[in-house]
Amino acid sequence: MKADEFQKAFALACRFLSDSIGCPKIYAEGVDIPDCILDGENCERENQWECWQSYFLDRVSNEQVCRICGCTQESACPGGCWWVEDDLCSSCSENINSQSTS
Ligand SMILES: [Zn+2]
Ligand SMILES: [Zn+2]
Ligand SMILES: [Zn+2]
Repeated sequence: MKADEFQKAFALACRFLSDSIGCPKIYAEGVDIPDCILDGENCERENQWECWQSYFLDRVSNEQVCRICGCTQESACPGGCWWVEDDLCSSCSENINSQSTS
């Protein structure tokens, strides 16, 4: 998949989350979201997808996240996985290796 498609998908996902949940503070209590000053349900930011983008961008800069499946230290793949690279987990690494033979 191309990088610009990923970016679009990210924007879409953030909009989807803001439409279905609202501000990320409703979902993740106590998180620090840059520019989201009010609490959760009271977030009156017009574009709450911006809260989601800030939330995710803040997370990826602060913790290890697999660049393919998005698993983290706290939420690993089913069956468990470990870091093969800084941003690639063992499950995804196996998938890449089995596909790249074509
Ligand atoms: Zn907000
Ligand atoms: Zn992964
Ligand atoms: Zn994983």
